[in-house]
Amino acid sequence: MSGLFQDESQLDTPPAPEGPGLFGDALEPAHAAPYRVLARKYRPTSFNDLIGQAAMVRILRNAFATGRVAHAFMLTGVRGVGKTTTARIIARALNCTGPDGKGGPTADPCGVCPDCAAILADRHPDVVEMDAASRTGVDDVREIIEATRFRPMQARTKVFVIDEVHMLSRNAFNALLKTLEEPPPHVKFVFATTELRKVPVTVLSRCQRFDLRRVRMAELSAHFARIAGREAVSVEPAALDLIARAADGSVRDGLSLLDQAIAQADGVVTEAAVTNMLGLADRGMVFDLMDAVMSGQPRQALQITELAHERGADLGMMLQDLLELTYTVTRLKSVPALRESQDLPEAERTRGAALADRLSVPVLSRAWQMLLKGVGEVETAPDRRAAAEMVLIRLCHVSDLPPPGDLVRRLSGGGVQAAGGTAPAPSGGGARAVAGGAPIAAAQAEQTVPRITSFRDVAALVAEKREAMLHAHLIHSVHLVRFAPPVIELRPQPEAPKDLAARLGTLLTEATGTRWTIALSTAEGEATIAEQGSAADSARRVTAADHPLVRAIIDAFPGARIDTVHDTSVDEYGLPAVGQQAELADDEECEE
Ligand SMILES: [Zn+2]
Repeated sequence: MSGLFQDESQLDTPPAPEGPGLFGDALEPAHAAPYRVLARKYRPTSFNDLIGQAAMVRILRNAFATGRVAHAFMLTGVRGVGKTTTARIIARALNCTGPDGKGGPTADPCGVCPDCAAILADRHPDVVEMDAASRTGVDDVREIIEATRFRPMQARTKVFVIDEVHMLSRNAFNALLKTLEEPPPHVKFVFATTELRKVPVTVLSRCQRFDLRRVRMAELSAHFARIAGREAVSVEPAALDLIARAADGSVRDGLSLLDQAIAQADGVVTEAAVTNMLGLADRGMVFDLMDAVMSGQPRQALQITELAHERGADLGMMLQDLLELTYTVTRLKSVPALRESQDLPEAERTRGAALADRLSVPVLSRAWQMLLKGVGEVETAPDRRAAAEMVLIRLCHVSDLPPPGDLVRRLSGGGVQAAGGTAPAPSGGGARAVAGGAPIAAAQAEQTVPRITSFRDVAALVAEKREAMLHAHLIHSVHLVRFAPPVIELRPQPEAPKDLAARLGTLLTEATGTRWTIALSTAEGEATIAEQGSAADSARRVTAADHPLVRAIIDAFPGARIDTVHDTSVDEYGLPAVGQQAELADDEECEE
């Protein structure tokens, strides 16, 4: 069948669409047929099409080739890895008669004979599918057992597919067991389950068992890329990777996500759109979190998780991201040439490389181990968020410790330091490549760190740093959504420069020695500082005009008008100092 697709060079294992025709609709334009969800349209119909299950396919092929096909199979694995799909392929393999009607059981069912066609269309009288999740009772199983007594109506073999078999009641299992012990020769069972532990050993021991693997991310990503190509939809590679990652090994889940992403896309499916759709923490946030924990700053780390949580990101997933990032950074450290690799996303090459320069391999591998353990803890914890935050806090505290080797050297060299101490390592101990926290903090203590308690302080700092354009944009084209140092959420107006957030973040981080996160938001937020200033100015004019003294002056000097209202208590933006808004000064002066 591969010949059919030879002109589509990238399709090494083309997923054939299900349906009555032999791959017919795959070759038609996508709009010719009513829309079918991708998971159905590209459901594998042969063992060749199954992705990520090579070991099982090899064993099954071998079984068919030697004519030693088991009487019962137990397919286990997470949802969406292809259990029922495999069951249907097995049913066809058992019953295919070939295009000439003379073939026997084969690992490569033809897809065109009446039996193949009927099974493909889900209307074969001898292939019975039952969902044990909805039919758990002994009577349901009795029906099946009853049916096994009769010869197949049309096919060679009756195939009973029981999905979610672990849901059967104890009595139902017992009833089934007798049939499994002495199965009639013309009957095969294919069981599928996501929870193998709940299947009695007595049943298990009578089945050939296959553990369907979670499909690897790279395989999923490549698979989705092929399908996007077939659908003539352009999807950014990074968006495909995100979907593949979120699918967590499940082809079906991934295809559902791809469906959604395509439906929501306006043309190209972008990484940003998928990030948004999945409620993921964006990449920048993961880097910020890494920075925070590796410089031993739990407060910052928790501010980032708070923000991520608000945006609907799953903190367990965020730990996974950190784990992955730790791996990437370690690779960048070990193989510096990777920094030039176009395979790595931009952020990894720049921010990842900066982290690699800062962190030592012992520190990175300790972080890796703690995260690996932490990811497991989160999966079993009753409160995922709490568990994830505990892991991060632990990391913050440990990241500050010198690597064990250094510690031993220091202790034996007599230069004992308090653990996590802020003093630089004694000389001779070699580079103490601990994540920034301590050394940076020490350096900063000597300078005066600007105090930033409001967004206006931020603007003032930017002015002080002589960033006139950035300052102007902060005043005129940015709406403050949330001010929670070191996190600021902003909604820039369209005229604001694209790199405003990045520039502001860098400036603040350099000026304060604390890493700031400038997040963009779509929330309305406050009026711009300029708008607030002019509103306050108008209010002051009204108040001033109302002042008895001012009225007396205006009355006494016809032609007098209020020009400027000076308020000695307001700042350079015409606004009262933060926290003093209430006491709108009474001491206006009036000028003629
Ligand atoms: Zn066939």
